[in-house]
Amino acid sequence: MTANVYKTTAAKLAHENLRIPGPVPLPDDILEAVGTQMMNHRGPEYADMLARMTVDLKTVFMTKGDAYFITSSGTGAMETAIVNTLSPGDKVLSLTIGFFGDRFADIAKAYGAQVESMSFPYGKPVDPDALGKKLRESKGVKAVILTHNESSTGVSNPLQAIAHAVHANSDALVLVDAVSSAAAMPIAVDAWGLDVVATAAQKAWIAPPGIAMVTFSQKAWKAQETAKMPRYYFDIVQYRDYLKIGQPPFTPCLPAMYALEISLRRIVEEGIENVFARHHAIADRTRNGALKLGLSLFPDRQFASDTVTAIRLPEGLDGKALVAKVRKDSGIVIGGGQGPMTGKIVRIGHMGWVEPAHVDAALDAVGKAINGMRP
Ligand code: PMP
Repeated sequence: MTANVYKTTAAKLAHENLRIPGPVPLPDDILEAVGTQMMNHRGPEYADMLARMTVDLKTVFMTKGDAYFITSSGTGAMETAIVNTLSPGDKVLSLTIGFFGDRFADIAKAYGAQVESMSFPYGKPVDPDALGKKLRESKGVKAVILTHNESSTGVSNPLQAIAHAVHANSDALVLVDAVSSAAAMPIAVDAWGLDVVATAAQKAWIAPPGIAMVTFSQKAWKAQETAKMPRYYFDIVQYRDYLKIGQPPFTPCLPAMYALEISLRRIVEEGIENVFARHHAIADRTRNGALKLGLSLFPDRQFASDTVTAIRLPEGLDGKALVAKVRKDSGIVIGGGQGPMTGKIVRIGHMGWVEPAHVDAALDAVGKAINGMRP
């Protein structure tokens, strides 16, 4: 495991105990940055900060293309991807492996896209071969939309292989919800041909909620020229034109930007490969720990997420009661299941600033609570 640059930072217990898949706990110096004075977002200090942050953001996404900060949650970034590249009536293929995949499809439907869903069972990733076949059979798919890391099931999609299948079999745009994977798992925007990638500050970026980020490729800009979906706040042209003068189009969430500036710098200084390796190591530790407790992982290990571990609960054990008991007995906050997985799985988040002791404590608390609940 590579050195953890956050190790020396003491944090308050209450924050350390937040082990949900975002918002993530923040180390003390980032919390302090959140509490610093406001600045003029149309002044030179903001322009300098925005310029530095944009360079770092592009480094993390391995892109020479465009990248923007938008004041919103991650869902706003997903909406940005849809409304700037598509027109009502456009054919969209939605790859769904869980709750957040369904949300992406819902956004496209809300703006009038003709959405066809290719759903895979909960706990499974997208099958790139099946996708390739589907695209060969379908005509005129304008965009393929998907979740990179499905936070609701702890499954990571093989994004590179999926993008390859799209490009080999169609001219479709690839629009990616990377809300819970970016800054933790590799996303090579240019090399993999990803047109818009959406993410949010409160996940592996180690910042508070309030800022979303998107990348925007040349192909996305081409699509933007003819895209007719209605948009105003999320109109990417405004973000592009204002960035040229070092400003945001609208008043930004400054506290989240302050935090993000520090954490982006730290990610780049640590080295993105090291950041990815660190996430993989802590995820492996969590997976091994769950197995040692006699529990099983919900996804196949090969596709298990490096940011959130979904653990299948023994038959008859109430997951909601388990989450409540863990919290009551240990103070540690873990996630339950969402949608059809409610009560059947628990989820331990391990993205951003995570020490081995954090996941060990969460696993220990889960093990003890399960023992306490067994008749
Ligand atoms: N997609 C995924 C994969 C997520 O994990 C989340 C947040 N849990 C979202 C989208 C939505 O993000 P937000 O709540 O910031 O709008």
